Amino acid sequence: MSRQNGVWPNTNQPGRCVNAAGRADEVAVLNELSDAIGAPVRQEVPLAEHTTIRIGGPARYLCVARTTEQLGRAMKAASDLGLGLQVLGGGSNVLFSDSGFDGLVLVVGPGRVELDGVRMWAEAGAPYADLVRLAARKGLAGLSFAAGIPGTVGGALWGNAGAYGKAIGDLLVGAVVVGADGRRRQVTRDELRLGYRTSALAETGEVVESVTLELEPGEPQAIWAEVEGNLRRRRERLPGPELPSAGSFFKNLPPPAPGESRVPAGKLLDECGCKGLRVGDAMVYERHANVIVNVGRATAAQVLQLAREMRRRVRERFGVALEPEVRILPAWQA
Ligand SMILES: Cc1cc2nc3c(=O)[nH]c(=O)nc-3n(C[C@H](O)[C@H](O)[C@H](O)COP(=O)(O)OP(=O)(O)OC[C@H]3O[C@@H](n4cnc5c(N)ncnc54)[C@H](O)[C@@H]3O)c2cc1C
Repeated sequence: MSRQNGVWPNTNQPGRCVNAAGRADEVAVLNELSDAIGAPVRQEVPLAEHTTIRIGGPARYLCVARTTEQLGRAMKAASDLGLGLQVLGGGSNVLFSDSGFDGLVLVVGPGRVELDGVRMWAEAGAPYADLVRLAARKGLAGLSFAAGIPGTVGGALWGNAGAYGKAIGDLLVGAVVVGADGRRRQVTRDELRLGYRTSALAETGEVVESVTLELEPGEPQAIWAEVEGNLRRRRERLPGPELPSAGSFFKNLPPPAPGESRVPAGKLLDECGCKGLRVGDAMVYERHANVIVNVGRATAAQVLQLAREMRRRVRERFGVALEPEVRILPAWQA
């Protein structure tokens, strides 16, 4: 993404772009940002280092917000300085362009997880896996579906991450979010309008600070068995960290009739012969036709060219348009 006519895009605060033409030099902005946030800010950081697909050009500025205070201060500082802002958790569901991001990338994490009876509270930067493990250890049921989903709980809430017909929203009691002005507010599950891989956060641009989930008492042994079973199923179908990817590239299609399940995009892509298709070092995973893997030095341009071809095949054969599940930055013109 590049600055156009002096306008910095702010993908976490849609519709709010600030003219930063004539801004003081880079070093001054860097110092101002670091001081305001109270954490080191780095310049020109390759986003490939912060995404599981290992792709992405440089972030103009990048800061890791380790505390909720730093998170709020960073939001406000970016807004005050007229900088575009992009929040990142584990980077497991994003594809940045090869030209990177011309603004501040705010990486949220790590984070604490606490239990109070059947209620689990977690800071946004906590890995989803920590919640799954703690629940299993304490004999609390409800989270086993999430075993093996990479990333943070903040990222999970943004896209209502889930598997096997269940998602984080099913367990959600509420969350604390931070707005562009750095102000925090408590939101309910209803306000978050959670749907299949969506939430209102995509529209509001607010950032998750913490979430509260409600689990159910269960049998530790049965929960561990479920967790391990789900991890095994994943290992059979999905690439591990040694083969960089961003998970499923396209969303599954809506159920054909009420009460039926969604139609897996992977099934349609498989029927179109997509497994093994390749553009440069971007390749459709041999074991899952809806996953694009980076087998070497793939670029975002190669991934998108491959994704276009996959989408074209499905549209021609089945007459349906697949929608990306991966967050493509800047937004994709399919
Ligand atoms: C091998 C593999 C398997 C996967 N399997 C699944 C699966 O089964 N089900 C599933 O749903 N997903 C799956 N994913 C995708 C991904 O792991 C999830 O979507 C995950 O929840 C994203 O979390 P993250 O922290 O990595 O988010 P990121 O990729 O860092 O960000 C994703 C989006 O969330 C936003 N975001 C991140 N943190 C915050 C925050 N604190 N506040 C507000 N917005 C935030 C970002 O701005 C971005 O728009 C898989 C990915 C991989 C690589």
